[in-house]
Amino acid sequence: MTPPTLVFFRNDDVGALEPGLTELSGLFLERGLKLTQAVVPVALTPQCAAWLGQTPPDLVEFIQHGYAHAWHGRGEFGGRRGLDEQAREIAAGRDILERAFGKRFFPAMAFPWHLYNRHSITALTKLDFKVVSGIFDPTPARRLFFGLGRVLRANLLLGRNVSHHERRRPGSGRGPGSGRGPGEGLLELSVSLDPVAAYRQPASDSPRKALAELQAGFRWCRRRMAVVGVLLHHAVYSGEKAHLDTLAAFLDWLAGQEGVTVASLGEIHARLTAGATQG
Ligand SMILES: [Zn+2]
Repeated sequence: MTPPTLVFFRNDDVGALEPGLTELSGLFLERGLKLTQAVVPVALTPQCAAWLGQTPPDLVEFIQHGYAHAWHGRGEFGGRRGLDEQAREIAAGRDILERAFGKRFFPAMAFPWHLYNRHSITALTKLDFKVVSGIFDPTPARRLFFGLGRVLRANLLLGRNVSHHERRRPGSGRGPGSGRGPGEGLLELSVSLDPVAAYRQPASDSPRKALAELQAGFRWCRRRMAVVGVLLHHAVYSGEKAHLDTLAAFLDWLAGQEGVTVASLGEIHARLTAGATQG
């Protein structure tokens, strides 16, 4: 029997109401599938907030994608900026999203360019974020590297971010004096699959995977993890009918796979931490 797999779709760089956003979201809404919108707080326009606000709450979830998506040496949060500065920006960004989306905002952070430093993780923990979503590339070399990082309980190793996909980040809870009970702390739920093979400028030049390649990628991930995150960038799909069709075909195929559930990050977090609280 195939073990159950939870899948989430994270759409990054949400801010303005662009055709790609409504087209891509439409694929999920038509099928009754859940979609996580990763919103850049400072880039969110009133029109976009209004459009997102009228999408069905049971299907569309909102999380935070950085603050202004600005480059500071190594990503927005991965450079040399200290804890106070990062915590201030993250909190200010969260305030914007909470005002816009209320309870539909789930306290998860997807850092722009998947880059952050140890202060970023501390800031999220202090601000009671529940999830950090980065990138998890489960190739054998990476898995070895991440395995070593986990043994060392490192957030960074040799200057690179260590993925703790499906696990709590080290130092984010459960430890003595952390003031947190079991089941709390910062859970990492990262993305491993992307229908885009490589990102190019302009976006329309980015090569995409064919349906068979996406299916093979999903099967490969499924054998290695219980939670499979798929990364989307709506800008790349804008007006690209063939690519939207491929994604639609992938969604239809996925819906027919035994044991596969498309869920929000909030739901996946609840399931994974419920087990931890009981155990
Ligand atoms: Zn981004």
